[in-house]
Amino acid sequence: MTNEIIYYSLVLAVINFPFVIGVDWYVRTQSVKRVYQIEEPVEQRQREMKNSWTTTPVHAVLFFGFIASGLLKTGQESALLILATFLLTFLWTEIWHYFSHIAMHHKSLHFIHHEHHLSKLTAPWTSVSFSFLEKFIFSLGILSMLAIVSLLHELSAFGIFAYYLLYFFTNTLGHANFEFRKAGYYDSVMGKIFNSPTYHALHHARYIKNYGLLTPWLDKLFGTEWKDVALVQTRATQAKPLLNLKEKEG
Ligand SMILES: [Zn+2]
Ligand SMILES: [Zn+2]
Repeated sequence: MTNEIIYYSLVLAVINFPFVIGVDWYVRTQSVKRVYQIEEPVEQRQREMKNSWTTTPVHAVLFFGFIASGLLKTGQESALLILATFLLTFLWTEIWHYFSHIAMHHKSLHFIHHEHHLSKLTAPWTSVSFSFLEKFIFSLGILSMLAIVSLLHELSAFGIFAYYLLYFFTNTLGHANFEFRKAGYYDSVMGKIFNSPTYHALHHARYIKNYGLLTPWLDKLFGTEWKDVALVQTRATQAKPLLNLKEKEG
């Protein structure tokens, strides 16, 4: 193990906080195009901030533990290895998150996911508000698969670190209840590949469907996507937000 693993782990333990604080500052001080024009319940932010202290460093502890123990074998960094590891982590996390998320919506496992869904209206701090067990399972699933792959070929520690940075930042944006994409985003090529904040806002407000993390592919494949996501997204960009959590478009 090199010193880099310690530095990466320390960064991962804290970097989500400036992301959340920055995005939260942005949505509160700038005139943003909201998905839902609803007041945040008074207790929500306090509860989410409290949860963040126990759940945010989990990823860093598991990242360090897997690599430092040699369970996840990492090798000499190269541009190709970094890119391949990053893409592998990205793709596997989309699959792992989709199926584990659906499993946690089953009543027998819902206790794991319950804390996150206490927030029906998404806000930047919702992105770090989970039960400890939920985030532990999330990163355990990611790193266990990478550990198995690393038996065949060593992976890049930096590639995994970079993926976590992307996840932290995009997950914060995904919970920020404002649209930064243009009208008609879901008809564009980019919109077929990556979600915008409207996508996950609908999951929290309506509780079911739109289970995907950063992409809509698996929801499309398995028919679990809200059909009005494109219309709601365009409404948000036109400053016509949804006015209650039950509202549907079309
Ligand atoms: Zn959920
Ligand atoms: Zn969420």
